Amino acid sequence: MLIPPEIIEQIKQTTDLVAVIKGRGVKLRKYGKTYKGLCPFHEEEKPSFSVNTEENLWHCFGCAKGGDVIRFVELKDNISFPEAIKLLGGDEVQAKLKSAKTNTQPKPKPKPQQNKNNSTPPKQPTTPKPKLQKLLNRCFEFYHTTLTEDQSGRAYLEKRGITSNNLFSDFKIGLSNGTLLKILPNDGAVIAQLQELGILNKKGTELFYGCITFPLYDLNGDPAGLYGRRLPEFTKGNNAEHL
Ligand code: ZN
Repeated sequence: MLIPPEIIEQIKQTTDLVAVIKGRGVKLRKYGKTYKGLCPFHEEEKPSFSVNTEENLWHCFGCAKGGDVIRFVELKDNISFPEAIKLLGGDEVQAKLKSAKTNTQPKPKPKPQQNKNNSTPPKQPTTPKPKLQKLLNRCFEFYHTTLTEDQSGRAYLEKRGITSNNLFSDFKIGLSNGTLLKILPNDGAVIAQLQELGILNKKGTELFYGCITFPLYDLNGDPAGLYGRRLPEFTKGNNAEHL
């Protein structure tokens, strides 16, 4: 399940950033609307870590780390984004997430005649079963490795201003260039599972062929789906730009 943006926004706006940071052992001193202290992410003797209470953001001029309250908790507690959301949101947010989950899951299948003019309605991502999640995670890994080996994907990302190696690896950004089919075992069960996941289409070819791939995770940090952005040279014909 994906986290509703309004929940993320609510946490960013209502959490007392200074209290969260102090609560994690960082001593802060007040200077007008900002607080300063020794950065918890790098060794220093003079404080270059500052917190802006107006914008509810923090930044370190020493090690260039910074962000909102969620990012701080992710880094300081060494937990994932969804875990930080759960931790900061408390009972209220957890209840909201639960109700969002029950609202989206028992969705009846759309009647076929509703989509006469649009033969492929966008599928709402739902978390796959655990045994499929493992397989999906292996696909994330494979596509990520492919991106590091095939320059065409990186060239596109760099053109769009995404150049940081950390970003590629943190988000496990990948590339589908058709090579997945070459490494697959000759095993009907695996093929069927990949088709169920939507990694392969009914014909048995890669659905995300020619796409930069972005793994999607659920609240528990488990693999939940894949977003694909088709490279310009592959968007001819019926190939969708966004998958
Ligand atoms: Zn720092």
